[in-house]
Amino acid sequence: MARILVVEDEPDVAMLLADDLTSEGHQVEVVRDGETASRRGREPGWDLIILDVMLPGRDGFDVCRDLRRARVRTPIIILTAKTHEAEKILGLDLGADDYVTKPFSPRELRSRIRAVLRRFEGETGDTYRFGDMVINFARAELRRQDKPVDLTPLEFKLLSVFVGRRGRVLSRDQLIQEAWGGQTFVTDRAVDGHIVGLRRKIEPDPGEPRYLVSVRGLGYRFDG
Ligand code: CA
Repeated sequence: MARILVVEDEPDVAMLLADDLTSEGHQVEVVRDGETASRRGREPGWDLIILDVMLPGRDGFDVCRDLRRARVRTPIIILTAKTHEAEKILGLDLGADDYVTKPFSPRELRSRIRAVLRRFEGETGDTYRFGDMVINFARAELRRQDKPVDLTPLEFKLLSVFVGRRGRVLSRDQLIQEAWGGQTFVTDRAVDGHIVGLRRKIEPDPGEPRYLVSVRGLGYRFDG
């Protein structure tokens, strides 16, 4: 059983969803506009948010962005009427965990919900989510959309250092101290090389980094 926030302005669809999920044993609340969704979604205790894209006021993409910026980690399934691939990718880029295209069958939605809830089961403070990726620190593992990303031990260490200091600029010297332990002689160029390697694995477009950004003359900053 899960506590599910349904964000849907069309009464028929909202009622269908609420009835179906309630009969599955879930506890469901429905809100009908983006502003309310952004506010209610921040409240603790939700296991899942089902978020329609076309809403009055702020749309579902805005709500998704708001919540992830507010560091809300609750899984989000986006309901999109749009079959355009770019729209689906946008939703996932904004931090949604899955999407279902309207019109959907209740059975399809139920199976997506089960998959997302299963993915999040047992997630603890030992994990950190950014974009469509989850870092599991206890297992030294990074997954993108539930598939393992192959990082070297040093790349994992670097990523952990960045996540621990997210939003702050780290100089190459700091990175050497923290990721290499300052024990060995490491050149700035070697640091840059590892950053390039890491970007290839975590950035949607390594040429235009979104998470691991360069700060000219100073070093790097993680914006995840
Ligand atoms: Ca709608």
